[in-house]
Amino acid sequence: MKIISNVEELRREIKALKAEKQGYIGLVPTMGALHKGHLSLIETCRAENEIVIVSVFVNPTQFGPNEDYDKYPRTIEADSKLCEKAGVDFLFAPSPKDIYSEYYFKNKETTLICPPYEVVNKLCGKSRPGHFDGVCTIVAKLFNITKCDRAYFGKKDAQQLFIIKNMVRDLNFDIDIIGCPIIREEDNLAMSSRNTYLNDEARSAALNISKALFKVKELREKGINESATLIDTALTIMQNLEVEYTEIVSLETFENIDIIDEKALMLIAAKVNVNGSKVRLIDNIEL
Ligand code: AMP
Repeated sequence: MKIISNVEELRREIKALKAEKQGYIGLVPTMGALHKGHLSLIETCRAENEIVIVSVFVNPTQFGPNEDYDKYPRTIEADSKLCEKAGVDFLFAPSPKDIYSEYYFKNKETTLICPPYEVVNKLCGKSRPGHFDGVCTIVAKLFNITKCDRAYFGKKDAQQLFIIKNMVRDLNFDIDIIGCPIIREEDNLAMSSRNTYLNDEARSAALNISKALFKVKELREKGINESATLIDTALTIMQNLEVEYTEIVSLETFENIDIIDEKALMLIAAKVNVNGSKVRLIDNIEL
């Protein structure tokens, strides 16, 4: 496995390996602090492609001014061991200066990809203005840098996956976007790099997020199809948390639905207290 931070060097190395191996290039974009959720994406990518690239980049343009950009966990040594073991060909770990131009650092501005208002002005996008512009921009840059054929994203970030699929359609990227299942801890907490912020108390409080989702799924399977009833049930279970949103949307369009008569998603964002500061967690389930 080669660890590369420079864009031109990565391009050269991919070209050389492609000439040797041929076949498909798969990309797994991450922000690092890798866990089993990321590894499942990497394993799927390894199984389906000749060349596997994992990127680790904490992308400044997708963090708001009061978010955790500075304190986001950075564990590149452990990440590289995991990638090596998983058979990754290239670990692309650039610094912001490798990725963004001098113009960006001088003017705090860059060309951005802005997804449609209707899909970003809800759920995570509502409390994180500009977040999905940053996500789409870095993902498009990674697509252009790697010239990948397939890219792998987790269903844990369901709105992100939806927005990226739309971006690929709207901008004619010749890339297959593959959504991979949510990987959970044994007690059902969705794996997340931000779980490292949680102490025991916060972690057990956070369990009510997945508890609410699984209860709602159980009720849905019993035939309850009114979103309001299901949302009330979830909110009752999450009384100990600061819930940012609990919504039910169509899996196909991401529009909110009152009565579930098609494939749907319940999505939750909630904050838990950890020693006076707040950790924001997201999770979702197909209904
Ligand atoms: P992140 O490093 O948080 O930006 O995540 C990188 C990729 O891993 C994204 O596509 C996430 O959706 C995916 N991912 C993160 N956590 C999980 C999980 N628990 N299960 C499946 N995919 C995940």
